[in-house]
Amino acid sequence: MIWNEKIETMSRDEMTDLQNGRIANIAKYVYERVPFYTKKFDEMGINPDDIKGLEDLHKLPFTKKTDLRDNYPFGLFAVPMEEVVRVHASSGTTGKPTVVGYTRDDIDMWAEVCARSFAMSGANPGDMFQNAYGYGLFTGGLGMHYGAEKMGLNTIPVSGGNTARQMTLLQDFQTKVMACTPSYALTLADALVNAGINPEDLPVRNFILGAEPWTDEMREEIEAKLHANAVNIYGLSEIIGPGVSCESVEAKDGMHIMEDHFVPEIINPETGEVLADGEVGELVFTTVTKQAMPLIRYRTGDLCSLNREPSVCGRTLVRMSRVLGRADDMLIIRGVNVFPSQIEAAMLGIEELSPHYRLIVTQQDRLDRIEVQPEVTKAFIERVGEEALTGGHTAVTSLQKKIEATLKESLLISTKVTLIGPGEAPRSEGGKINRVEDRR
Ligand code: ADP
Repeated sequence: MIWNEKIETMSRDEMTDLQNGRIANIAKYVYERVPFYTKKFDEMGINPDDIKGLEDLHKLPFTKKTDLRDNYPFGLFAVPMEEVVRVHASSGTTGKPTVVGYTRDDIDMWAEVCARSFAMSGANPGDMFQNAYGYGLFTGGLGMHYGAEKMGLNTIPVSGGNTARQMTLLQDFQTKVMACTPSYALTLADALVNAGINPEDLPVRNFILGAEPWTDEMREEIEAKLHANAVNIYGLSEIIGPGVSCESVEAKDGMHIMEDHFVPEIINPETGEVLADGEVGELVFTTVTKQAMPLIRYRTGDLCSLNREPSVCGRTLVRMSRVLGRADDMLIIRGVNVFPSQIEAAMLGIEELSPHYRLIVTQQDRLDRIEVQPEVTKAFIERVGEEALTGGHTAVTSLQKKIEATLKESLLISTKVTLIGPGEAPRSEGGKINRVEDRR
């Protein structure tokens, strides 16, 4: 089903008209209400009345994550605190968390975009829905929760982690739709098999997965292991949370951006120049309807491309590609840009490996070195024996060589490969996963 037929199948001209009006409004709104933007616009000589729509968007200043930190906690809010009904904060690995706020209308809009996402993923009102995104300050849990209730799903707010409980609910409540991170979907798939439960016997058929980068190869693996559809959902707290964009189960080919609320641009992360559709660059959003904390040209740090072709599912909303990496945690190895997702995609075709791995980046004699530590499967260990990984066994050496050659072909740089045993690579405990150890 399509949740909001009118918006999601709008012609390009109608969407442009809608966006033009909203961009003009939001430029005035932030100028009048947020001192940070008043100052920025004044410094750049921008009169908000001159901002008439999409064509003028590039004249506006960018907003960066550091601007949120500098205005911590509530400095970018555009409404008095009496109008704020919810505050979230992102985990923020360094320093203070990034704080975001919502008015009642913002919460309604968020529920709307998440309901659209559920419909895209193949869910229908009345389906049993297990929400294994974390509840709390993280936007994942509550964002999906309100969308699910809006759609009329039977919502189970189980939150992240606690795999034993997740498995019990999957069986006893006959869950049909489940949301979690893609890495956790794999953890769950393995746990089900280890517990002697065949995922094919469970009614769960739609996984809606996001909050971290993943690959098409990983999708194939998740779908095969769980006997279900897996669609990609994207979002970030600064823009709203989950539901900024989502794939349709019919196409599984790019995530439809809810562009009536979040107007996207792709820019060259170095120069800030706006790039054409199809070109890979940094994704930037202007929130055109948000009240509590609207952001102008917010630099997400996520690298992807846009595609405005209508989709086979009937939706006309612009699609973004998978996130290919982050502009800021892209690894630069001896001058070559390397994305963990590239390494992951290259290795997923190798049958002796599990989908789990760790990356260690070091510097020796001023030279960057990257060590890839993929985890071998249990079947491989059974074949070569426990000690083989450290003992220089020929099967191990030849597998290492094979992986090194595959990576060289895909990354164009040499890597060192050290195989590790089943269970040794980081796993998702329910939330996001960090596989990279940069020791430089
Ligand atoms: P936190 O900062 O607490 O981790 P956020 O919601 O702000 O939480 O994280 C948003 C970021 O997560 C995005 O900018 C993006 O890098 C990543 N992300 C979210 N969904 C996806 C997805 N489907 N694919 C790839 N990356 C994603």
